[in-house]
Amino acid sequence: MRVGIPKGLFYHYYFPLWKTFFQDLGAEVVTSAATNRRTVERGIESAVDEACFPIKVYYGHVRELCRQKLDYIFIPRLVSVEYRSYICPKFMGLPDMLKAGLPELLPVIELTVDVSKNDRQLKQDIIRVGKIFTNNKNQINRAYQHGLDELSKCKNLCREGYNISEAIQIWEGEQLELSPNYDLNIGVLGHGYSLYDHTISMNIIERLRKMDCRVFVAETLDQEEIERQAAQIPKKVFWTLGRMMVGSALYMDSHDQFDGIIYLACFGCGPDSMIGEVIERKVKNKPFMFITIDEHTGEAGMVTRLEAFCDMLRRRAGKYEDYISSYG
Ligand code: SF4
Repeated sequence: MRVGIPKGLFYHYYFPLWKTFFQDLGAEVVTSAATNRRTVERGIESAVDEACFPIKVYYGHVRELCRQKLDYIFIPRLVSVEYRSYICPKFMGLPDMLKAGLPELLPVIELTVDVSKNDRQLKQDIIRVGKIFTNNKNQINRAYQHGLDELSKCKNLCREGYNISEAIQIWEGEQLELSPNYDLNIGVLGHGYSLYDHTISMNIIERLRKMDCRVFVAETLDQEEIERQAAQIPKKVFWTLGRMMVGSALYMDSHDQFDGIIYLACFGCGPDSMIGEVIERKVKNKPFMFITIDEHTGEAGMVTRLEAFCDMLRRRAGKYEDYISSYG
């Protein structure tokens, strides 16, 4: 059987897990192509106007897979991926939104991931999904465990400075090398599915690297320290990714090695409108730039802002000229 996995949203966090799981059950896994203009156009044509940019792009990926000879498309329903924390509600309704919006949708494999209280339901759902391919429960459990092991191997690569998307490329056998030449350390934050998607983010990470910046993202930092920093906020942030962003921003703000912080937000994103605001208020020690993107954002505007930010950081650090205080 051939199973399609759209290259959007939580593909950027969980692909090794699901690819290994389905392959071990004997399925062939097919992904959509990396996001391009056509993906975006197809997504905009079919998604509701109120959807955020990454959701529209996901529609485009699903439509692309619907044109291929596949038996199923895998669309998980993510509610919670860790104890007492949640994922944006748009993920909860994703299979339903797509079924309602795409008449050409192929049969969908749905899987509900909700471990907010415990993982009992998830384990049952894994067996239900696995039974599409085999009746052997042991094989299904082994395939899932193997998937988790592969995912953890992939995450370990992030400690070497790769973001999770690059780690997936390396896990798939590609050769990547990070440039050793840089004079600025910049923290870049945002939801992985927008930040690591070259079209959505307009390749912000590569552009910064070409401007001689070393880029740090949330996954490259010490995860325990991120949690400790996030706990400083009086009320716990119950969105998994939101808490990771707040903790990472505070981490970067309190460590000397970082020269500046950039937050990439999506227009129409509820969590970003709050988390971005919290971060903007809490970051006190480092220059901070907030960039909002949507399908209409122009590349030239983005490049100008990045160049201006880097120039400002270099001047501030005395790398171009002596520091002259703006107070005279
Ligand atoms: S968190 Fe924001 S960007 Fe992500 S799916 Fe929800 S609304 Fe869209």
